[in-house]
Amino acid sequence: MNLNNSLSATIIIAFATGLVIAYTRLHPDMAMATLITYVTTMVCLSLILAITAWLYRKHKSSVDAGDIAGISENLNTEMIMWTDDFSAVYMNRHMRELLGIEGLNFDYKAELMRAFGIDSLSLSTIQEIIQSNSHEARFVSNDGSTITIAWSTSLVKQKKKTALYLSTGLNLTEIKKMRLDLASTNDLFNYSMSLAEIGIIMSNDMTNFIVSPETVRMLGLKSSNITLKNLRVAIHPNDRLMFDSAMKSANTDNGNEVHSIEMRISSADGFYHWYSYRYKGMNHSDSLPMFGGALIDSTQEHEKDLIIERLAYIDDVTEIANRNKLMDVGQETFEQCRLLNFSYWIIVLDIDRFHIINDSSGYQNGNYILKHFANIMYKFVTPGGLAARISGDNFALMLRDYGDDDLPLRTAKAIQDEFAKSAAGDFASINLSCSAGYAKMPEDCGSFLEAFEHAEFALKSGGTDNNTVHGYEARMHDSIIGRNELERELALAIDNNELQLFYQPKIDLSTGKIMGVEALIRWIKPDGTIVRPDAFVPVAESSHLIGKISEFVLNEGCRQNKLWQKMGYPEIVMSINFTSTDFYQNDLKDQVFEALVKTGLDAKWLEVELTETLALSDIDYAVSQMNKLRELGVKLAMDDFGTGYSSLSYLQILPITLLKLDRSFIIDIEHDNIAYEIVSSVIRIAKSKQIETIAEGIENPNQEDILRKAGCDFGQGYLYGKPMPAEKLQDFIEENMKQHQDK
Ligand code: C2E
Ligand code: MG
Ligand code: MG
Repeated sequence: MNLNNSLSATIIIAFATGLVIAYTRLHPDMAMATLITYVTTMVCLSLILAITAWLYRKHKSSVDAGDIAGISENLNTEMIMWTDDFSAVYMNRHMRELLGIEGLNFDYKAELMRAFGIDSLSLSTIQEIIQSNSHEARFVSNDGSTITIAWSTSLVKQKKKTALYLSTGLNLTEIKKMRLDLASTNDLFNYSMSLAEIGIIMSNDMTNFIVSPETVRMLGLKSSNITLKNLRVAIHPNDRLMFDSAMKSANTDNGNEVHSIEMRISSADGFYHWYSYRYKGMNHSDSLPMFGGALIDSTQEHEKDLIIERLAYIDDVTEIANRNKLMDVGQETFEQCRLLNFSYWIIVLDIDRFHIINDSSGYQNGNYILKHFANIMYKFVTPGGLAARISGDNFALMLRDYGDDDLPLRTAKAIQDEFAKSAAGDFASINLSCSAGYAKMPEDCGSFLEAFEHAEFALKSGGTDNNTVHGYEARMHDSIIGRNELERELALAIDNNELQLFYQPKIDLSTGKIMGVEALIRWIKPDGTIVRPDAFVPVAESSHLIGKISEFVLNEGCRQNKLWQKMGYPEIVMSINFTSTDFYQNDLKDQVFEALVKTGLDAKWLEVELTETLALSDIDYAVSQMNKLRELGVKLAMDDFGTGYSSLSYLQILPITLLKLDRSFIIDIEHDNIAYEIVSSVIRIAKSKQIETIAEGIENPNQEDILRKAGCDFGQGYLYGKPMPAEKLQDFIEENMKQHQDK
């Protein structure tokens, strides 16, 4: 009953009561009966009104709840209407099915507790359910599965002390399951990745990388995000270039190919570990670019590989990279240079006269020098570079170019300086020097090998054994090709006996008689062209051919001289020229001895000419070799005296028998007082040491005259005769004999 109804009932009752009081005043005799009738009527009326109101209220509330129940009964969502005194609990069909309830009569309290997932229905639990926006309840359903429902409860009606509530549920079971599945999949994934120690590194902009928990662990990172810059910093400097080119090429990858790189990355323990990174780049126009792959610590495998690599790629003697390694790394670097627009310098170095050092100081010391040289060179390797021993005394250095064109020259000179300074102790008497050639890549070449050859061309162009440094120039290419061609032709010429000795007479200045000849080699080509030694001896010297040539010269010279003696010509000295390669042979004495024995020539008629540069490169060994030849009785001449860096003091220690004054002094002797002074004092000093002197290149009688007066013993030059074949020399001797028979 509402307020308006109550008011109108009160007015009606008040009006009726007024009427009854007025009537009893007018009829006092009827007052008692009227009052009884009135009270009885009012009680009945109130009773009817109360019953009507109750019935109305009852009827109305059952219609509200019934409406909701009717609507919700068939809804496919969970709904409960309940009074907080649990006198009435309605659950819709869906909910009843979940709980396995049949019909509408069930144990309200017990099933409500199940539905709300609580053990008791106290005031506080009810408050909790009502106040919570989403009360999460879990129960076991009819089919035994666990159901999770989030209940949202609202008040439908407050009836005195009893409230009617409507709870609507949101079934979270599937979502929960999905979330659980997702979480467990992720956990499982990470767990298996951590068990297998596989890290993941991915990016879709190549600037920021997302890494997996295992990567974070392996590399000791602070978070699962790392920038390209920081990742690069963590990579070993020598591997950064490779990483950069991997990034660059992945930028254009279409996802078809899996790549793999091996690189060192600074790791959780503070050390570099080797990692194998297998990755793919995907750059499809219809999707976001993606780059990523798996990272595996391959340090252990690398250590095993290192042993294998050591065998294949490390030089035994110097313990630096060998030729194979140089070629592999070189080609890899070449390709990276092309891709990333970088340049590298390749410097090829050759220890000057190493064969001498090796022969003179012995194998052990030779190895020591090689190791020492490798150590010096290694100091100049910058990140991303490489030092390698190519063969024998041949080394190479690869340096990254940063636009400083002087770098290779400066580096080579610095190596030369340090190497020269290291000549001490056992090596004090040796000139330690090296020559170098350099080239740049990838400019002007199609492969690393080509760049390397360019550096070698440059080295050879300066001639080895003379402490030079040369940069590659295109024109060198042709000259080297020519050189190689010449080398091949010369090898054939030796086999085809195209080499021949010419003889130039040596004259005794006091008598004018021939006292000896110098054997000078000539290469007579089949077409009759005569090639002078200057054109092919240096080529032969830088290859193994010189040994063959010298063997021929020694034997042929001895044979010819013995033949002339047998033919009855006057006994003369046969001089032959030796290069440093010949001279520093350990078995030099045996070779000479054999030639003498074989030809029957007495040792005193053989003279070996050595240049001063040759003799002075390792003075101790030179002296010992000379002494060995002297022991045989062979004469020793110092050729081209005055052209090198010799000092007269060496005449004290070198056991030479003849000093050959270089032609350059003789040319000037007529007009240049200084040249004359030098020549005459050298002659004087030599005489005081019982060393005979001979002047080279006498071309006119005036020169001869001056030299004779200066005390020079012998002369050689075009004035007497040019180098000539043996038969011509015989004519010369005969003529000379005729001219001087009476002297
Ligand atoms: P060398 O031993 O100093 O020989 C002397 C060179 O001077 C010879 O040149 C000779 O022809 C030249 N010569 C001699 N007199 C005169 C002159 O009056 N005027 C001018 N302008 N030149 C004169 P050749 O035969 O061309 O030899 C050049 C060099 O080649 C030799 O210099 C020697 O170092 C080397 N050589 C020659 N034959 C042999 C050989 O069989 N073995 C080795 N290892 N080297 C050799
Ligand atoms: Mg000579
Ligand atoms: Mg000479």
